[in-house]
Amino acid sequence: MFKRARLKLTAWYLLIIMVISLSFSVAIYTSVNSELVRIDRAQSERQARVDSMQEFIAQKGFAPPQGPQMPENITIEQTRVKIITMLGLINISILVLSGLGGYFLAGQTLEPISKMLAEQKKFVSNASHELRTPLTSLKTEIEVGLRDKKMTLESAQKLLKSNLEDVNGMEKLSDYLLDLNRYENIDIKLETKTIELGTLVISAIENCAALAHEKGVQICKHISKTYIKSDDQATLQLAMILIDNAIKYSGKSKKIDVYVNKDGELVVKDYGIGISEKETPFIFDRFYRADISRTKQKVKGYGLGLSIAKSITNKLGAKIKVESKIGKGSTFSVQFPTA
Ligand code: ADP
Repeated sequence: MFKRARLKLTAWYLLIIMVISLSFSVAIYTSVNSELVRIDRAQSERQARVDSMQEFIAQKGFAPPQGPQMPENITIEQTRVKIITMLGLINISILVLSGLGGYFLAGQTLEPISKMLAEQKKFVSNASHELRTPLTSLKTEIEVGLRDKKMTLESAQKLLKSNLEDVNGMEKLSDYLLDLNRYENIDIKLETKTIELGTLVISAIENCAALAHEKGVQICKHISKTYIKSDDQATLQLAMILIDNAIKYSGKSKKIDVYVNKDGELVVKDYGIGISEKETPFIFDRFYRADISRTKQKVKGYGLGLSIAKSITNKLGAKIKVESKIGKGSTFSVQFPTA
């Protein structure tokens, strides 16, 4: 598909260049030719005058004077042919060079579009895969349940509970996808205003309290008052993603620290499984989950939280960074623009 588009674009580039080049050639030829016609006419008149003078001198019996030879008509015709040949050669060279250049430029123009499409394809395929897994499990469980004629109330409830978990997972995934779409859409602007970061982070900690309780993780707060320029919903979501991850990946340590520093910086520190140096550059990619396989299976997730966090920071003009060591833990910091 891209090869055809590239050839088409090359053809368009060529067409434009050749139209310009041919127009110039025609203009050059027309003006040179009219000059040649004028010279030709002047020469003929001069020749006629010379001829009549020679005739007059001959009649009077004088020897004819030795003057310069007039150029023959054929010379002017040759000049014309020469100019046409030269213009033809120039145009052929332009055609070849602009064909090659156009093909190269068309490739350069189409490359980002091709990359974007490939990324989009990958994204759709990943999203479909993530949706398919809970859907298949849901379908299988319902089919098995329907076939079971002696199902007890207790096993029916167990089945519904498991179905609900799958539905919740799909709901979370669709929320993530909508968020990603929102924060990556360049046409959508976030409304930034002056907000107090500390208060917002305390709300985020409260929203994550249930998960922390479930995992038995203690959240230690170190909150200073600081005013930043940001969107409150996006900032809350960003803080929740980082705190949520710190809880999920805190491993055996069962403790995380959340700092809000006076200069508008949020720091979320855990002492859990950590991320390898090799994988750190990829954790902000969509659907990327670091390959600590045992953790991957144990800890639920879609690999979208950090890509949303990154999109939010991009939108807000904030900066996110991570420091991590396998088995020692991770520190995520976000520097917001101060108010
Ligand atoms: P999810 O947590 O849903 O898998 P994220 O996008 O939030 O997706 O994170 C991407 C990956 O980065 C995670 O799968 C995990 O491997 C790694 N990661 C993120 N936060 C931490 C953390 N605090 N400690 C260790 N690994 C982390």
